[in-house]
Amino acid sequence: YVARIKPIPSMDGEQRLYALSFRDISDLRSMDRMRSDFVANASHELRTPLASLRGFIETLMGPAKSDLAAHERFLGIMLDQATRMSRLVDDLLSLSRLELKSHIAPDQRVDLVPLIGHVRDSLSPLADELGVEIFMHLPEGKVEVIGDRDELVQVVENLIENACKYGQEGKTVDVHLKRDETDTVEFSVVDRGPGIPAEHVPRLTERFYRVSVADSRSKKGTGLGLAIVKHILTRHRARLIVKSELGKGTTFTVRF
Ligand code: ADP
Repeated sequence: YVARIKPIPSMDGEQRLYALSFRDISDLRSMDRMRSDFVANASHELRTPLASLRGFIETLMGPAKSDLAAHERFLGIMLDQATRMSRLVDDLLSLSRLELKSHIAPDQRVDLVPLIGHVRDSLSPLADELGVEIFMHLPEGKVEVIGDRDELVQVVENLIENACKYGQEGKTVDVHLKRDETDTVEFSVVDRGPGIPAEHVPRLTERFYRVSVADSRSKKGTGLGLAIVKHILTRHRARLIVKSELGKGTTFTVRF
């Protein structure tokens, strides 16, 4: 609390009354704390690949100067680290752009059918690389929602990409879209991967949160994807529902 004392002027000019007020600033404090936690996390995530890049550059300039085989190997690792840093910076920029836009409501009429089709096409090289087959279950005709096209592309892309990355054991991913009688639009992505332990599910949309089971840590990612998805869906007044069963798979549903 912040306390303030203010003199209240009286009619006869003598100072006798004071007003004491208390203002609850816990919300402001916790926002401040969240912001500085975020900056600390982001700096840490960027520092790790930077430190590793520096180490490799020093080795290439020193002990491994004339070792051509080491050059090739180290340069490959350095490229991976640089790619990881670019991905992080892109995600951080996406989040900060979304924060700047938070007071503007998305207002485009977006047909999700072609949008999902395009995203699927753009992800097919990744799906091929991971050996995953994506099955589409889209209705005939249009399924329109009011939203921001680019942001909705990000949501669809993130969820299908995650299903391919983390659900690959089952090798198939199903993408569904439907509108029901009450005009509710549902988009869902079903994978047949190892699933997510229940205690992690509520935290998936936290920034930098990654589940450290099995080999999920070894998969490329920033831990910001679902935080971005959540942010976008909140702006769209849409909900993200996660259902996961260990050993069976995970379904991410977006309900507009
Ligand atoms: P990233 O994929 O960059 O790590 P996300 O925010 O997209 O970050 O996802 C956070 C974490 O949630 C992932 O690291 C992964 O552990 C878990 N996750 C996301 N989608 C799935 C899925 N379909 N199956 C299993 N785990 C998942």
